[in-house]
Amino acid sequence: MGIPGERFPGYGRQGMGQRRGGVRWWVLVLAALYFGWYWFSHQQEAAFTGRTQLIDTSIEEEAQLGLQAWQETLAQSETVRGGPLPEQVSTIARRLVEVGPAVEQYLAKAHGVPATTRWDAFQWEVAVIESPQVNAFCLPGGKIAVYTGIIPVARNEHALAAIMGHEIAHALLRHGAERMAQQKLVQIGQVAASMSIGDMDPRQQQMVMAALGAGARYGLVLPFSRDHETEADRVGLMLAAAACYDPRESIGLWERMGQASGGGAPPEFMSTHPAGATRIQQLQAWMPEALALREASGCPPLP
Ligand SMILES: [Zn+2]
Repeated sequence: MGIPGERFPGYGRQGMGQRRGGVRWWVLVLAALYFGWYWFSHQQEAAFTGRTQLIDTSIEEEAQLGLQAWQETLAQSETVRGGPLPEQVSTIARRLVEVGPAVEQYLAKAHGVPATTRWDAFQWEVAVIESPQVNAFCLPGGKIAVYTGIIPVARNEHALAAIMGHEIAHALLRHGAERMAQQKLVQIGQVAASMSIGDMDPRQQQMVMAALGAGARYGLVLPFSRDHETEADRVGLMLAAAACYDPRESIGLWERMGQASGGGAPPEFMSTHPAGATRIQQLQAWMPEALALREASGCPPLP
């Protein structure tokens, strides 16, 4: 009698917990299998771009989370109610949103991407927030905020339309839901990793976890964020053009944005936003299509 581990050390008693170099490989194998299942069962083709997205939140849940964040933001902020600015910002938002379905149809025809946006799930609302921050956002579900601090950088309605188009595009492309799914995967990965190295020397454990954290950040989270920024730039440009704003104003705008963020901007590799020069090159490459879409939308000719 007795357990096999007594005669064959390293075998039996550890059973499923068999380790090499202090690593429980089976935890990693299970995590990898789960990742594979999660990926294949939650991927979908994104409207406007056709990129494969990982999303496990319904658009209704996403809009609900957006609404909560919106109410919290409004409760903590001072909004501008009088004067021409709120009116101007609302008009830009309305024009951009109105052309949304037509832009989606245009991109579907021109590039063969699916037109699957659930327009009914967006309840658009706009607020101008009194704040020196150079900021604007659109939450999932369509809640748009423009901070007064961004107005001097925008300078004109065309550039402001480029900013708001970019933010609205983030919401239409469901980047928030995609980020949530990603964060979930990163968290599960971290738990699996820390379980699998639970018997390692604590200093080594710390080093492995730090390396994995950096790997997830630079290998997964940041490249995805940069893709999101690029997509939002492109779709935002199309929205602004179809709404009869001058898409060419986006170039000067992103140059001014680069200056507003100061010389302290991190290099592209570390940042969520594409570096200024890359961004402007991309905008220039998309410009002929944006101008053609503008013309096809029946807008008055540009000066
Ligand atoms: Zn963005």
